[in-house]
Amino acid sequence: MGNNKDIKRVAILGSTGSIGKQALEVIDENPDLFEVYALTANNNTTLLIEQAIKFKPEVVVIANESKYAEVKEALAKQPIKVFAGRDALNQVVEMEPIDIVLTAMVGYAGLKPTMHAIKAKKIIALANKETLVVAGELINKLAQENATPILPVDSEHSAIFQCLVGEDFNSIEKIIITASGGPFRKKSIEELATVTKAQALKHPNWTMGAKITIDSASMMNKGFEVIEAKWLFGLKPEQMDVVVHPQSIVHSMVQFNDGSVKAQLGLPDMKLPIQYAFGYPNRLQNKYPRLDFTQHNSLTFEAPDTKRFRNLAFAYQAMHKGGNLPCILNAANEIVVAAFLQDKIGFLQMSDIIEQTMNKCTFIQTPTYEDYVLSDKEARDITLSFL
Ligand code: NDP
Repeated sequence: MGNNKDIKRVAILGSTGSIGKQALEVIDENPDLFEVYALTANNNTTLLIEQAIKFKPEVVVIANESKYAEVKEALAKQPIKVFAGRDALNQVVEMEPIDIVLTAMVGYAGLKPTMHAIKAKKIIALANKETLVVAGELINKLAQENATPILPVDSEHSAIFQCLVGEDFNSIEKIIITASGGPFRKKSIEELATVTKAQALKHPNWTMGAKITIDSASMMNKGFEVIEAKWLFGLKPEQMDVVVHPQSIVHSMVQFNDGSVKAQLGLPDMKLPIQYAFGYPNRLQNKYPRLDFTQHNSLTFEAPDTKRFRNLAFAYQAMHKGGNLPCILNAANEIVVAAFLQDKIGFLQMSDIIEQTMNKCTFIQTPTYEDYVLSDKEARDITLSFL
């Protein structure tokens, strides 16, 4: 580890994933600005070990405890501490030298470590949108109490965040979140009934982890982003619009109370929002390909169809009702996406089962953290009973 005080020390939760790997590229490209302090993974020991040898972090965590011996042995000759288990994730993010915690693990599992990182007053670079979907109110309260900034990594939220620099949040009329529409944008309901996992995993514009790719195909991802934006920017449900923009060049927009609209544009590349969050408030130079308007001369926009993509409607419903309903929505979605990826259910069944789960779970208007834990468990059990 270097001694440069200006270097920001970064913990990457989920370094072996799509966002985690791109974050490491950003760090690799900016060695004077960032240093890897902690890397974590769930199962992928091979890549975690490779990353640890290359980036020489102070500590690595393998969440799956059964893989501890393998990682420990492989890094025995390195001056790197190796920990295992979920509790280790919570402890590592609190380590004093860490400046930024990038939450790039997938799903509900990101909630607890993010809470610990906020309490330890780390800058949160938030990729794990499920954290805000499940417990946005609680996270915002914690962040406020600890004066912890939460910087969005999701490209749409980074776009909105960038549009809001220098603006008064009170002058926001609405935000317009763009959606690519995914691989099934033009498919009829009849066609959606028979789409396969392989088709769903082929996103037209982005290469991402499996879970978010399925969420994009089903438009649950957009629904989650609407809820995420509500909490990130302190907006009312009626201030949030979604527009389908298949080219993924306009990453989102803000409309102000004078009717003026600001948009952030760029080629679809997650390294940009990752770099923006890491460098904030500075813009860092890079050599990534530039947007050439003559090559992207047709930017189109259309309304989303919540009849074919019911998940988006469920997310709006969960946001309006609030309480633990978004948590239930998320838990049900995690189970059905896993089932779809295992070929146990069809594409449209995912929405049917989510709806049934939302109707059956116990509703709590003002949940505590413990309530979220119980609701998540109840929703998972109920969803499983419908499979
Ligand atoms: P990936 O599936 O590619 O990676 C997930 C990472 O989390 C891996 O490092 C994985 O480890 C780790 N992980 C998975 N489950 C657990 C667990 N239970 N405990 C600890 N670690 C775990 O996901 P993405 O990188 O695509 O997405 C990460 C997050 O970022 C998601 O919340 C997603 O919604 C969000 N996001 C992603 C975008 C993208 O472009 N990919 C864009 C915007 C947001 P292992 O490899 O060992 O399994």
